[in-house]
Amino acid sequence: YSKDRGRNTYNFYTHQMDQDINRRLRVEEQLRNALKRKEFEVYFQPLVEIKSRKIIGAEALLRWKNALLGQVTPDEFIPIAEQTGLIIPIGQYVIDIAFNATKKWQQQFQSQFKIAINVSPKQFRENTFIDMLKMQLEKHQIHVSSVELEITEGVLLNGDPIINSNLTSINDIGVSISMDDFGTGYSSLSYLRSYPFDTLKVDKSFINDITVDPGDLELVGAAIAMGHGLNLKVVAEGIETEEQYHLLRSLKCDYGQGYLFSKPLPRAEFEELLQTQVKSADQ
Ligand code: C2E
Ligand code: MG
Ligand code: MG
Ligand code: MG
Repeated sequence: YSKDRGRNTYNFYTHQMDQDINRRLRVEEQLRNALKRKEFEVYFQPLVEIKSRKIIGAEALLRWKNALLGQVTPDEFIPIAEQTGLIIPIGQYVIDIAFNATKKWQQQFQSQFKIAINVSPKQFRENTFIDMLKMQLEKHQIHVSSVELEITEGVLLNGDPIINSNLTSINDIGVSISMDDFGTGYSSLSYLRSYPFDTLKVDKSFINDITVDPGDLELVGAAIAMGHGLNLKVVAEGIETEEQYHLLRSLKCDYGQGYLFSKPLPRAEFEELLQTQVKSADQ
């Protein structure tokens, strides 16, 4: 083979690989110090009741801004936090901040305010998870009925017995569990049958085209009907337009999230939004 081509291929390949590995190592290295450098911020996206269009709670979504890397998306850093185990302290930090805000909002604006928190597989498999959760509930004096943990199919995939026992404990404590990104996995239906879910969050990829794709509309309608048949609440993710909202309303979807209502917001901005809603209800 040609020496040139060989070298070019080789160079191209290593260059790509170097870039990927370098990026990953740099992210990992920076991630190790991110907590103590206070580089994380917890954002809140309104969870809206469809029929009243009122904010009834929020989903906590983590944001990371680093001096060297700039803003890094959760889709990039959460998997690295998972693989390195850093998700354990980071996950606890999210719960701590989110519960702190929730308590304040319950006292000032809305006693029934709900908070949804994403929990990734590694966190969920940790045998200290339940104790950590109880400790945080106690610390912030949060009632269990205000809390929902969002898990994806990935949490359930490997059938580890600790997962079953953690899910059972969470259910026994009275904290709700929701299946996030519903419809994107392979075994969502069998998991729904086997585990004590309270809520289905229909993935935004299904909501995206409901106004133009009759098949997607049919699927979302079926997911909502099935959820209700199983006594679950249904949340639609990624609602961006009035048309999507009205369709979901006619399908009797319970709750929604999406840019139509608001993007995820820093704590202070979310609080302003909530305050505005409470004030207008007073008038
Ligand atoms: P997710 O839990 O499914 O969160 C919903 C994602 O959809 C969020 O992306 C949110 O900003 C985005 N979104 C909300 N409304 C709309 C909309 O109308 N249109 C579009 N296109 N997108 C919308 P984000 O914040 O980038 O988070 C991505 C994923 O990272 C989350 O997906 C979740 O799996 C994970 N994640 C975020 N924060 C945490 C965390 O604190 N812990 C763990 N374990 N995972 C987290
Ligand atoms: Mg989520
Ligand atoms: Mg989701
Ligand atoms: Mg997701």
